[in-house]
Amino acid sequence: MANQFIDTARITVRAGNGGGGAVSFHREKYVAAGGPDGGDGGRGGDVVLRVDPHMSTLMDFRYKRKYAAENGRDGSGKRCSGKDGADLVIRVPRGTVVRDLETREIICDMSGEEDFVLARGGNGGWGNQHFATPTRQVPRFAKAGLPGQAREVLLELKLLADVGLVGFPNVGKSTLLSVVTRAQPKIANYHFTTLFPNLGVVPMEEGRSFVLADIPGIIEGAAAGAGLGHDFLRHIDRCRLLIHVVDVSGSEGRDPVADFDAICAELAQWSPELASRRMIVAANKADIMEDPSLLERLREHAEAKGCPVYVISAAAHQGVKELMYAAAAELDALPPVITYEPTYVERPPEVDTSAPLDITRDEDGTWLVDGPWLRQLMANVNFGDYESRNWFDRKLREAGVFQRMEDMGVQDGDNVCLYNLEFEYQR
Ligand code: GDP
Ligand code: MG
Repeated sequence: MANQFIDTARITVRAGNGGGGAVSFHREKYVAAGGPDGGDGGRGGDVVLRVDPHMSTLMDFRYKRKYAAENGRDGSGKRCSGKDGADLVIRVPRGTVVRDLETREIICDMSGEEDFVLARGGNGGWGNQHFATPTRQVPRFAKAGLPGQAREVLLELKLLADVGLVGFPNVGKSTLLSVVTRAQPKIANYHFTTLFPNLGVVPMEEGRSFVLADIPGIIEGAAAGAGLGHDFLRHIDRCRLLIHVVDVSGSEGRDPVADFDAICAELAQWSPELASRRMIVAANKADIMEDPSLLERLREHAEAKGCPVYVISAAAHQGVKELMYAAAAELDALPPVITYEPTYVERPPEVDTSAPLDITRDEDGTWLVDGPWLRQLMANVNFGDYESRNWFDRKLREAGVFQRMEDMGVQDGDNVCLYNLEFEYQR
């Protein structure tokens, strides 16, 4: 069945590449050989995630899946740096959890106010102005920019609400939400489920107001793939408290105890952790109750499982206030809304080191080492970190770079320029 409420999406993001540095020499009338004045390349733009409080679905991502930030511009003569690439801001609804597509690790939970840099732009390459030394006065080279990071991620919307309403379709969840908040959900007297979760704020005295979410009906069998139900369950993953709405009117021959158990079974199938979430029961439609023994059986059954029962009529606004006070009191004793800690560990990218690097010698004897995979490697190494430097060294060794230099006659103490990293060679 077509799911109109889009709450997962896969996207590909790519940050901008750094611009290249320029090779240029100062030229002036009557001045013979000017010095190098090639400017640096600009930095590539980042891909940034930002919460948009007005968005409530991931619908936009159904139509656009590829996102790229601008590349940095190349540098030019007269020490002109290239323009930095603009960042690309991607707006997401609050509560969007971002995972690595492959490993499913959590990269970030967009539930606060802060922006998150999902892919970092590459640095611009240095222009030849940086490469003049007393012995190398005419540097005829500049550096290419570093590549921007690329990622494939899974976006998953998990709404932020304190309390989630669960229960069969038609039991009065939307009615309850509309009565206690200013939300205006669709209320319908038929067995079809709301397609969009609705959120509303329940106004209480200062500091105790809370957010209530009406989760589309959890249809029995949803766990086995029938209906829409299970997709929506992720929205109550964060809820601190569940209000289980049960119809006790006995209309349509329904058995409240059987309904209660069926929903609990659905929750347990989605997540055992969710099944043990604190729950209170709203026995609804008490205004048209025909057989009070149904209510009594439900009360006994639910209370035995540790769930207090509140008798209400959402439509007639009866018992609703008491239910909301009870919910607020429960919340006082419960931990805050769940946020997800990142589990993603930044790993160096897979870099194919099979293509040989360019190894040349400059006029002053400096060994110049460069090549596409070297730049890719360097864009991802944190040189402030010992482990990362070791990893980088190992990669170069494995690729036979140092062996080739040895074969070409490199000596201890020779100057080496690995892309833009200058150091003295040491065996
Ligand atoms: P949901 O599917 O759980 O969201 O249920 P709705 O809120 O859409 O309600 C389904 C039907 O039950 C609607 O016709 C409501 O007017 C009706 N209803 C909801 N609460 C009550 C109640 O307390 N008493 C009575 N008599 N009808 C109710
Ligand atoms: Mg509804």
